[in-house]
Amino acid sequence: MMASRVTAYIGIGANLGDARAQVEQALDSLKRLPQSRLTTQSSLFATAPVDAVGDDFINAVACLETELPAQALLEQLQALELAAGRERPFRNAPRTLDLDILLYGEQLIDTPSLTVPHPRLTQRAFVLIPLLQLDPFIVIPGAGSAHQFAPRVAGQGIRKL
Ligand code: AMP
Repeated sequence: MMASRVTAYIGIGANLGDARAQVEQALDSLKRLPQSRLTTQSSLFATAPVDAVGDDFINAVACLETELPAQALLEQLQALELAAGRERPFRNAPRTLDLDILLYGEQLIDTPSLTVPHPRLTQRAFVLIPLLQLDPFIVIPGAGSAHQFAPRVAGQGIRKL
């Protein structure tokens, strides 16, 4: 049986070391995921940390066509996070790369390891704005049109690189 193909949106964030290079490398790695094709990617954005102090984050969103089940996709993303983490400059340094499944087709997923749509999707400019750049009419299952949430994140600093 042929595996079904799903459109998945991946949120990418980094704020340690050369964050821009981390995000670009992550986009490159996403192009090589098994049973998947990266179809579009947003611009890179610089955003002020929301719940923390420190350097700006670099964020982007990628759109994949994938035949990987959601859990397998999560495991692939976690392997990429780990690989990026191995390059961390000192022992126990925080992770350099964060990869999240924002949307997985129209599916609502709620397991111990996976909540999709990603719960912060509608509240964080750093995922909402790149997502809207890729598709201004995108619908978030269970929440409606993504663009209705844009005014609520208008106070969050975000700058297109
Ligand atoms: P964080 O440290 O914030 O990146 O969170 C990582 C944890 O979030 C992992 O243990 C995942 O199992 C869990 N998680 C839940 N939902 C998602 C999602 N949609 N995308 C990525 N990780 C998720």
